[in-house]
Amino acid sequence: MCKHQPTCPSPYSPAREAAHVAVAHPDQGWSLLCNGVVLFEDTGLLLPDGTTIAPHRASHSASHGASHGASHGAFQQVPARVLVAA
Ligand SMILES: [Zn+2]
Repeated sequence: MCKHQPTCPSPYSPAREAAHVAVAHPDQGWSLLCNGVVLFEDTGLLLPDGTTIAPHRASHSASHGASHGASHGAFQQVPARVLVAA
């Protein structure tokens, strides 16, 4: 599936998320990596064999800064009236 050089990490390697994004669906909250892994917006993963990996947001490092920005942005979308009511 992967045509990159050097080849991207295997879907069964701990570095699987370092693979390139092949298809991005930010509107639907998921991306397909070129190694066949489906990466969900909440950092959950679906491997090609159907194995699911729970979200691990807390352990995300700064190297994922770009995708991290999206989850931080959600915070800023809290309606002001909710904060006032509290
Ligand atoms: Zn690749």
